[in-house]
Amino acid sequence: TTSGPLLRIDGLGAGYGRVGILSDIDLELNAGEIVVVLGANGAGKTTLLNAISGVARVSAGTIRFDGQDITGLRPEAVVRRGLAHCPEGRQIFQRLTVEENLVAAHVRRGPRGFEALREDVFTLFPILKERRNAPASRMSGGQQQMLAIGRALMAEPKLLMLDEPSLGLAPKVIHQIFRIILDLSQSGISVLLVEQNVQLALECGDHAYLLTAGRCRLEGPAQEIAAHSALNELYLGAA
Ligand code: ATP
Repeated sequence: TTSGPLLRIDGLGAGYGRVGILSDIDLELNAGEIVVVLGANGAGKTTLLNAISGVARVSAGTIRFDGQDITGLRPEAVVRRGLAHCPEGRQIFQRLTVEENLVAAHVRRGPRGFEALREDVFTLFPILKERRNAPASRMSGGQQQMLAIGRALMAEPKLLMLDEPSLGLAPKVIHQIFRIILDLSQSGISVLLVEQNVQLALECGDHAYLLTAGRCRLEGPAQEIAAHSALNELYLGAA
């Protein structure tokens, strides 16, 4: 819609209630990029996604998306602008079927209706089509993660935020999920990715940010960050 980055965060402070978690975060994501957010447990990665999607409280700074100020908008308003959040822990409806989960996640934004979007999700994840009438609780961890991503895609996002999509999955499934993230990116969806799987995330990402105790410690092209000594501290810190 406009020139400049798709997502631009300046001087962000955020937290929950009176508790401050993030300070002075600057971040940019250009359309078409995969931007990775790294950091040890508790560094504030989830809070950053929550602040962008309107779940956490923003106490300072601005968040601009697609040329508009979205700072402090409610989650429903943020998703309607084309910014979808696939939360940590998947948060799908266990008792609903696969298809019902997709229905419940549909957000009418553009000209494309529910059925067209659902078909896109089924094309990306054939297993979800095969098991469309199964309760979500009967799906494996990897399939549930695919469903969680599918739900986010039902909002026809320009930017997809993924919070630890590889968490708790077997190595083979993790590779499948990363393959899908690259496919989504190729199809024109930008991605903001929070990951503990540092190596894979930096292989697939364009740019990376490293958070420490609620602040941005390091930022740069993914390849440079991968070679940076601060990453060793992160590994040790997380161990
Ligand atoms: P993790 O990988 O463990 O999720 P993270 O980097 O995503 O780590 P956050 O989940 O953003 O970190 O947590 C940052 C800090 O915010 C932690 O100290 C956590 O205890 C705190 N926190 C998280 N959720 C809340 C909440 N709802 N209310 C108050 N504090 C919270």
